[in-house]
Amino acid sequence: MAFPATTRATDGTTSTQKPLFGLAIEDLREVMAQFNEKPYRAVQLDDALHRQRVESLDAVTSLSTELRAQMAAEGYVVGLPEIVQTARSVDGTERYLVRLSDGETVETVWMPGGDGGERGDGSAAAAEEEQEEATAEADSVPASEYKRATICVSSQVGCAVNCQFCLTAKLGIKRNLTAGEIAGQVAAVLNRHGVELRSGRGKSTPDRINLVFMGMGEPFLNYDNFMAAVRLLVKTGVPDARMTVSTSGIVPSIERFAQETVRPKLAVSLNASNNEVREAVMPITRKWNIEALLESLRPLTLRSKECVTFEYVLLGGVNDQLEHADEVIALMRQIPELRPKVNLIVWNPGPDIAYSQPKPEDVAAFQWRLREGGYRTYIRRPRGRDIYAACGQLKRTVDAEPQLVTIG
Ligand code: SAH
Ligand code: SF4
Repeated sequence: MAFPATTRATDGTTSTQKPLFGLAIEDLREVMAQFNEKPYRAVQLDDALHRQRVESLDAVTSLSTELRAQMAAEGYVVGLPEIVQTARSVDGTERYLVRLSDGETVETVWMPGGDGGERGDGSAAAAEEEQEEATAEADSVPASEYKRATICVSSQVGCAVNCQFCLTAKLGIKRNLTAGEIAGQVAAVLNRHGVELRSGRGKSTPDRINLVFMGMGEPFLNYDNFMAAVRLLVKTGVPDARMTVSTSGIVPSIERFAQETVRPKLAVSLNASNNEVREAVMPITRKWNIEALLESLRPLTLRSKECVTFEYVLLGGVNDQLEHADEVIALMRQIPELRPKVNLIVWNPGPDIAYSQPKPEDVAAFQWRLREGGYRTYIRRPRGRDIYAACGQLKRTVDAEPQLVTIG
């Protein structure tokens, strides 16, 4: 168990803090043993941290005041990441700059309402899909009585994958997030919005939260911490089927993922229709080409109605022509067992990135070609574009746009 976080207080003194949030039950048992407490105390602490989402040790009322004081004296803290800056979009999307215990920052995004464009595009098909789900799940409870939102979560500070169109790539990789830091982003945002994930306390319909691991970083290059975070978040009350992880195609991790019993849904960033174009936009293709990528997906056993999403960032003149759409169809035909679905994402421009946005008519033609080919294809709704909160626009724009309007 490592407690690396050294913080500097405003008076200049430093202290070593030991964050508890994110620790596995075995580790919490060890902590309790240090205070000569029985193992069931670890279960109580686990419940307070990961189910109740307490923000300070004082709030862990299942432990005695004395024990809490002793723990605090030893440097133990809950240690949730802290939201230090917030920007709110006209569409309700909120983007947070979240500070970790060593001062590094990542971004987390709250997208209220639908599913944050993960599936919806405002089209009749998406609206129908959402309607069906709402009816089945909420059983005629008015939507206003419960919150519905998608949270976009980061998995690393920066990213090592170096996709040529991506702003996060420009940061390089600084470090992996711990499981507690990945799940902690979610807990911090849920607390901010007073989200109740379970019914009770006068609330008949729990709030409905989806998670997308599509923020900064490549989750499958931080696999163990990422999967540990998933298990923590299931404990927090988000079912794994309401989570989606996006990967650029890290084949060994996909192979491990296919063996997991508790796992999010999978989205794969395809972004090109052949190896030549993909090598140019995603150099990682030289390590694992499209064939190897598709092959690694085959062993995945899907839940009923689950499908694998292929994300496709449209780059003007590079991968957005009908010949590319036909190549995508040919690829999808190779993997019918994965019930492939395509999410088209209009590229968000960023500083120092030499691509251009696709023409609207090319986007529409691309979508229709795939639909005619028999594949569900949606155009990802850009959420919070005015605050640069769309995927791939994280963190770097904060550094680049310090004048951004912030609230709280
Ligand atoms: N590293 C993972 C998850 C984070 S990126 C991955 O690559 O899948 C999440 C999604 O944002 C990916 O599909 C990526 O292709 C897309 N993306 C990155 N930069 C973008 C940009 N500038 N405009 C639009 N989409 C972008
Ligand atoms: Fe990393 Fe994903 Fe950006 Fe590629 S698109 S550089 S994998 S964050």
